[in-house]
Amino acid sequence: PYVVTDGCIKCKYTDCVEVCPVDCFYEGENMLVIHPDECIDCGVCEPECPAEAIVPDTDDRATKWLELNRDYSGQW
Ligand code: SF4
Repeated sequence: PYVVTDGCIKCKYTDCVEVCPVDCFYEGENMLVIHPDECIDCGVCEPECPAEAIVPDTDDRATKWLELNRDYSGQW
């Protein structure tokens, strides 16, 4: 799946949410997150993010944010 990283914190844009075909973005405490089991890996959101905060889980930057994406997306 794709993962939202720290660049998203306090970002006010929701372009990513609007383009996601499966609506797998959720609101975390101070950032948006992607539900890792719902993301279909289409990659459409990545270039839409003005903060370049969305990366594939294979990216080094994703590692420490993956669990937080899972936690926040499951809490609602
Ligand atoms: Fe949604 Fe596709 Fe982005 Fe996954 S990669 S969060 S399915 S837009």
